[in-house]
Amino acid sequence: MLLANKAIGAALVSLICGPIWAQDATLLNDVTIVDIARGTLTVGQSVLIQDGLIAKVGPKVTSTAEGVAQFDANGAFLIPGLWDSHVHIFTSATEPDAALPLYLVNGVTGIRDMGALWPIADQKALQAQIEDGEVLGPRLVLSGAWVDASPGSWPGMFLADTPDQARTVVGQIAREGWAAVKSYSMLDKITYLALADAATAADLPLVGHIPERVALGTAIDAGQDGMEHFGRIPMACSTQEEAMIADLRAAMATGANRSRIFEIMASRNRIILETWDEALCRRVLDRIAASGMHVSPTLVVADFYIGVRPAADSTRMQMLPALVREAWDQPDFRLDAMTDEVRDLADETVALSRRTFLMAYEAGVPMLASTDASFANPFLFHGFSLLDELDLYVTIGLTPREALYTATVAPPRFFALTDQDGTIAPGRRADLVLLDANPLEGLATLRDPVAVIVGGHVIAHSALQAMRAALIEAGE
Ligand SMILES: [Zn+2]
Repeated sequence: MLLANKAIGAALVSLICGPIWAQDATLLNDVTIVDIARGTLTVGQSVLIQDGLIAKVGPKVTSTAEGVAQFDANGAFLIPGLWDSHVHIFTSATEPDAALPLYLVNGVTGIRDMGALWPIADQKALQAQIEDGEVLGPRLVLSGAWVDASPGSWPGMFLADTPDQARTVVGQIAREGWAAVKSYSMLDKITYLALADAATAADLPLVGHIPERVALGTAIDAGQDGMEHFGRIPMACSTQEEAMIADLRAAMATGANRSRIFEIMASRNRIILETWDEALCRRVLDRIAASGMHVSPTLVVADFYIGVRPAADSTRMQMLPALVREAWDQPDFRLDAMTDEVRDLADETVALSRRTFLMAYEAGVPMLASTDASFANPFLFHGFSLLDELDLYVTIGLTPREALYTATVAPPRFFALTDQDGTIAPGRRADLVLLDANPLEGLATLRDPVAVIVGGHVIAHSALQAMRAALIEAGE
């Protein structure tokens, strides 16, 4: 599945180097500012951008200083740039070359990487190049320090099979400068609990999978800050959550082989459908909401399993490197591992997941829009899939404003970024998207931004078109 071995890295990224723009200053004239948190519009505003930051906002802001570019927005709608809070851009040596522009053309100006095959030094080098304006790309949060039981579900993971090893690993993650510790699926309970304690002691958030042998309530009590993917919530709404976990724990304790373990996990979908309980679910959701644990739902991932995918000649497919298209065309181990029962129940499983998602949102569970986009994850697209995910939230029942909140306001606050909070105000980083229609009335306008502004650099519509054309040409 993975397209190349670890590493190489930063050198190849020079291919996407743009001009140096750190000193760019731009005055956006006549914009309508969209306040996503409040759901309000303010017309007739100007926004002065200097040194990568928003310097001034107001109806009478002017600047005729030399070197300040004037951009007439003609009333277009300005929103904070979008975040995708769960992606993987480092699964091959050249993935960022295509991934970074794919994010930008879709208005995504921030991404959290949740698991990488590049060495951390190379990831940080790219992160620094983006921050310094040497490489045109979305802001990067590096949260891919995934920790699993040996031998590890993916190559290159941190491994911990005992509480002592968990503590050692967290020490290493802290020294290496990752933004978080990411727990993974096969950790046993006592190792996981030690990992959570060590993360707290190291002042690092614990985000990631709730391990398969750990109940959701245990993860809440352990102080897990962020939960990746949504599946464990419907499972916790089943009266059989503890029994399902006990079954798996017993099988693993007696040395069951891999296929037996997959079989047990595959049987969970049927059990959940039969034993999902609304009253229990409300209690579980209230508990998550009270804990403040943020959920990265990655609902679009289900499309891959139910076979929803774009046409081979669609633009987004053409914008991928040819090698990626070929890899996605191959049989996939995850689809092969599906049992007939799981396949038969897929539609019902997805429907229950969506119903539970809406209940979770209404119960106040904080959400971070997220996709699992990666060249290693077939048909999960850098950039495009984030817009699909937001559309899905609206289809399920969120308003456009509520969906946008999960991609603009919630992520920078959860990541504790000091210069970004989902508002358009002086001192905030100039990561912005200009739209030709009011996004509070519908998200279709996100598909073709008037301009995308990243780190203060304005990418106008014509430049966005050129970036799309370059990706298509590179993919031929
Ligand atoms: Zn992932």
